[in-house]
Amino acid sequence: MNIAMVDLHGQYERIREEINHAIQEVLDSAAFINGPQVKQFEQHLAEYNQVEHAITCGNGTDALQIALMALGLQPGDEVIVPVHTYVATAEVIALLHLEPVFADCVADRFTIDVTRIEEKITPRTKAIVPVHLYGQCADMEPLMEIAKRHNLFVVEDAAQSIGAEYTFSDGRKLKSGCIGDIGTTSFFPSKNLGCYGDGGALFIRDARLAERARMIANHGQKIKYHHDIVGCNSRLDTLQAAILDVKLRYLREYTAARNRVADKYDEGLASVKGIILPARATDSTHAFHQYTIRVADKRRDELKTFLQSQGILSMIYYPVPLHLQQAYLREGQGKGSYPVSEQLSEEVLSLPIHTEMKPEVQEYIIQQIHAFFNQ
Ligand SMILES: *Cc1c(COP(=O)(O)O)cnc(C)c1O
Repeated sequence: MNIAMVDLHGQYERIREEINHAIQEVLDSAAFINGPQVKQFEQHLAEYNQVEHAITCGNGTDALQIALMALGLQPGDEVIVPVHTYVATAEVIALLHLEPVFADCVADRFTIDVTRIEEKITPRTKAIVPVHLYGQCADMEPLMEIAKRHNLFVVEDAAQSIGAEYTFSDGRKLKSGCIGDIGTTSFFPSKNLGCYGDGGALFIRDARLAERARMIANHGQKIKYHHDIVGCNSRLDTLQAAILDVKLRYLREYTAARNRVADKYDEGLASVKGIILPARATDSTHAFHQYTIRVADKRRDELKTFLQSQGILSMIYYPVPLHLQQAYLREGQGKGSYPVSEQLSEEVLSLPIHTEMKPEVQEYIIQQIHAFFNQ
């Protein structure tokens, strides 16, 4: 057995004809940058998310950077981020000479602890960047209320959650990434909607903000060679847009397949003592980018090594919380500052989950986890 976290080749095989055709069309047109497929994909993506504007760019990290630039944040402005996340979220904040301000996470949904946000707000605070980690929305209703009360922007990092939907208490449903002022996502190959290279996008309702973001991604110009604002160069190339336009048609199916795998893990692992299964929020659907269990009694690394010896790969997302990363150390915020996230970093283990998971392979993974705890 040699079980990987994802099966990108298997996924390609099933849509090979359509993908190859889409790629061939781009090759024949030679419109490698800004071909018509880019606009077309943006339209389809906006429709999928029921949002006014989808703006593609070079990758998910750029999308976050463009979002913060579009909001006009100034050096020294503070942006609140969860510490149990991928580094990109804090990285772009620091790159723009903004100040990342850390907040702890909650253990059940793995996302920012909304009860610990207000204590972090100062006169310099300008934005909150919740991350919909592993594919499930952060606690957005209370978060949006805090943002409104304190006049803060909300930039959602939806790199892992495309397709997840949040339901407000009044019944209103919004797609992840389309709840705050700007949402961002990534098309990195292993993401839920992955291309065959790098790619990213922003979701924006407001027309003026969308125009600004589009200009920033394109050297700050609306008219070629007329640069009104400082921008960058970040685009989704036509090949990737053509590939994504095909794959977007399968996204609902892909999300359903991931959910079936998650349901099967839930069922197969329910009786295992020593692990905590991922909680399902009642206010958000789950896109299951990752199926992440928590392993108690400091046995996480032992389980990981055991699974590896049985031919099963598992991953730790993420082993070090932001506040303990060398590049982001802050005075007075050492070990013990964000205890829940620190505990998560010691307990989380993500199991293989993807659209091509074979029942017998998953059965084997479940069996091996039982075997580890029964030995
Ligand atoms: C993948 C990811 C990103 C960055 O996306 P790239 O396309 O790799 O730049 C940002 N935030 C989170 C939470 C991610 O998972």
